[in-house]
Amino acid sequence: MKYKNKKGEHIEIIKCPVCKKENDTLYLLFDDFYYVKCRTCGLIFQKVRPLFDSLKSRYSLKYFFYELKNKENFFNLMKLTLNDIKFEKSLIKQFPPPVKFLDIGCATGMLLNYVKKLNLQPFGVEICKPSVDYARKNFKVKVFDKSLEKVKFPDNYFEFIHLSHVIEHVPEPVNFVKEIYRILKPYGYIIITTPRVDSFQAKLFGKNWRSYHRDHIFIFSKDTLIKILSMAGFKIKKVISWGGVPKGYTSNFIKSIIDKTVKFFNKGDVICILGKKE
Ligand SMILES: [Zn+2]
Repeated sequence: MKYKNKKGEHIEIIKCPVCKKENDTLYLLFDDFYYVKCRTCGLIFQKVRPLFDSLKSRYSLKYFFYELKNKENFFNLMKLTLNDIKFEKSLIKQFPPPVKFLDIGCATGMLLNYVKKLNLQPFGVEICKPSVDYARKNFKVKVFDKSLEKVKFPDNYFEFIHLSHVIEHVPEPVNFVKEIYRILKPYGYIIITTPRVDSFQAKLFGKNWRSYHRDHIFIFSKDTLIKILSMAGFKIKKVISWGGVPKGYTSNFIKSIIDKTVKFFNKGDVICILGKKE
């Protein structure tokens, strides 16, 4: 028997993909979805969610226009993160050329264009077809228009795999990170950025926190993200976080103090982890 949600999407009911057990408790209830928290590992996820084909159909033309409108902004944020982990200054110098860089969920391809200028070999994976067409046309970069597992890259292929605001959308995050580990070269790096639930902002805003979203079928904490990376075999090299209160929430002066404090104490609501295949 197939069940549908209010939007007419076929749904499935899942167990915690880390523990593979059904031992969860209601975490937060919204109008058309809810999160549970695994009592064993603390992972927060949508227990009832649309099947992958329905999820995929959400990343259509409307999503492309959202990506297009924000492309400079998203690119600048990714660039700041790469600077924080010393990507240009140190990491890329650890490998002899040619250095292969894969951006999963590469959207309009801005980041691929940037690494191309650094003389790296750019590869993209993106399920939003209009974004794929845009990246190929504007930046002449190689982008696969399917999910990562379906591309079937060779073992030990990339020096770098980057994903920003992607893992929270992925139906099988544990297997997904294992696939990333398989296709990374030994000593290669994963650079993974996602919203962080154990943050100052998530506590401050409660249900209105910006990252509780129907498309975010998982919400990670620092611990649960480290857990799935470690399960795949990654060694954690760096953890940074940032993201303050939104503009207009308070005066610019107070905002600047909050933003700096949150970053200093590493309690921001966006987290980036640098992991290594050693
Ligand atoms: Zn669990």
